[in-house]
Amino acid sequence: MSSKVEKPKVGVFKLSSCAGCQMVMIYHHDYLPEVLNATDIKYFKMARRDNVPEGKFDVVFIEGAVTEPEHIKLLKEVRPRTKLLVAMGACACDGGVVSLKNTVPEHQVESTVYSDTSKFTSIKTQPVDEVVKVDAYVRGCPVDGGELIELIKSALMGRKPNLTNYSVCIECKLNENPCRFINNKEACMGTITRGGCGALCPTYNRPCRGCRGPTTDANIISYARSALDREIPGREDLLKRREFAEFAPPNVYPQGRNVIKATEVAIISTPISSKKGGSSQ
Ligand code: SF4
Ligand code: SF4
Repeated sequence: MSSKVEKPKVGVFKLSSCAGCQMVMIYHHDYLPEVLNATDIKYFKMARRDNVPEGKFDVVFIEGAVTEPEHIKLLKEVRPRTKLLVAMGACACDGGVVSLKNTVPEHQVESTVYSDTSKFTSIKTQPVDEVVKVDAYVRGCPVDGGELIELIKSALMGRKPNLTNYSVCIECKLNENPCRFINNKEACMGTITRGGCGALCPTYNRPCRGCRGPTTDANIISYARSALDREIPGREDLLKRREFAEFAPPNVYPQGRNVIKATEVAIISTPISSKKGGSSQ
């Protein structure tokens, strides 16, 4: 006598996003036949034609940030119907690129792009956990395929995912990259940013932009002082990293989500001439 084992039901929902994280998911499916065979993907609009948004889920992945009242409605409808809810990517975890619009008045954003804004209902960008409880986060812009696989596997096996909390610098050194912060005087944020991406940006000749958010023990004030001491000309760029909201300056998330505080903003923005005792004018 054989009893049919019910496969875990999975849903992938999109809010405001570029869909890059879903692309990573689709791209890695070739490496995951055993995982995909073990699941019943009920809802994943980018990947399948027939979708069933109703009913119970075991795992729901949310890509994108909340920018519409209908996103809040969707999250509140889905949350009680899933055992696990995963925020996938910087937009869902922290607001991501979408949170750039929080730096200017709402109407100004809309009227910059569209001539008729009468039908717009968009609201300030919020990460998913501002609206509903999130059980797990897969960070990055886009997410790292390996981490996504680890998270899916751990969810299926009912164990805690083995995700890193060390900095990008560790992986950068393992790749034997020369340090862009020390050698190139670039405002690379690897020291304060959570690793797990394999130090992708520094390895391909770009400074880390902090898309994975800060490590739990990130000493941002020390980073800011170190950038000032080294007279790193691009350190003010840190202030522009609003797209990764956990690093954003206080005007982006006035409710206190920001990791960078006003004192750190002041240190980073201190003109080099002031440090030398000269005039800042
Ligand atoms: S985190 Fe980045 S790649 Fe993923 S949806 Fe947002 S903007 Fe796109
Ligand atoms: S280049 Fe960036 S990530 Fe690499 S060691 Fe230097 S600060 Fe760290």
